[in-house]
Amino acid sequence: MAAEQYSVQAELGEASPKPAESIAPRPSASSWRTATISDAVIRIEGLHKLYETSAGLFPALKDVSLNIAAGEFVAIMGPSGSGKSTFMNLLGCLDKPSAGRYVLDGRDVEKLGKDELALLRNRTIGFVFQGFNLLPRMSLLENVALPLIYCGITSDERQQRAQALLSKVGLDGYAASMPNKISGGQQQRVAIARALINRPRLLLADEPTGNLDSQTSKEIMALFEGLNSEGITIVLVTHEPDIAQYAKRQVRFFDGRVVSDQITHQEAAV
Ligand code: ADP
Repeated sequence: MAAEQYSVQAELGEASPKPAESIAPRPSASSWRTATISDAVIRIEGLHKLYETSAGLFPALKDVSLNIAAGEFVAIMGPSGSGKSTFMNLLGCLDKPSAGRYVLDGRDVEKLGKDELALLRNRTIGFVFQGFNLLPRMSLLENVALPLIYCGITSDERQQRAQALLSKVGLDGYAASMPNKISGGQQQRVAIARALINRPRLLLADEPTGNLDSQTSKEIMALFEGLNSEGITIVLVTHEPDIAQYAKRQVRFFDGRVVSDQITHQEAAV
C-alpha cells in the first residue's frame, strides 16, 4: 500500500477550511440505505488513470464508475497492484484522473482551482494512514489540533476541540503525552482524532490496521464503526477479509477495474 504517497501537508492542505458552522449537517446513520444519487458524497463516472512509465502508458484504473452515498462504510479490496492506492489518491484529490468525472460532495473536482480544491478537501475529508503520521515533537493534543492552525480558530477553541476528540477516541488524560510514549493502537486513535478535527463528512483510511495486532485492530475497527453509526461516510482500503467485514459494502478491484460491488451488511428496517 502506498501510504507514503499521502503527506501530512497534503492532508492539511494549503487553504483554510470553511468555519465549522457552515459544514453540511451530518446525515442519519441509516441514510445510506435510502440514499439517492443526489446524496452521494462521491460520484465517479468513467474514471481512468494512466501512468507514464519507461515502457509507455500504463493503465492503473480503467473505466471505474462508483457512487458512495452519505453514511456508507465501504471496504476497497483487491490484490496488490489492482489500483486501490491509485483510486484512494484520486478520491482524496491528491492526484488527478486521466479521464472521467469525479464529483465530491456535489462539486465537480475538475472544475475547481487549486485553492477551492484544497478547501473542499479540507472540509470534506479526513485521512487516516497505515503509518499514523503523527509529528514526533508535538504532544498528542498538538497533533490533533494541528489542522486547525490554518483555520483562523482561536488557540482556546483549538485546544477544546482537540481535547474533546482525544476523549472521544478513548485517550482522556493523554493530551500532554508524546507520540513515542504510547502504543501503536493509541497512535492510530490520535490519528483518527486528528482526521476528525475539521468535522469531515468522509474518512478515507488506507490500511489503518496494517501495523496493528489483531486485538488492537478490532478496537480500531470498533471505533470506525461508531463513527460510521454517527453518520460519517468511511472508505477504507484493506487486504484483510476480517477487517473488511466491518464495512457494509465491499468493492473489489482487479487489474484497475471494479470487479465486484456488494452490500454485505443490511441494516435492520427501522
Ligand atoms: P494497489 O494499491 O492495489 O497495490 P496501486 O494503485 O498502487 O495498486 O497500483 C496499480 C498499478 O499501477 C500497479 O501496477 C502499479 O505498479 C502501477 N503504478 C502505481 N503508481 C504508479 C506510478 N506512479 N507510476 C507508474 N505506475 C504506477
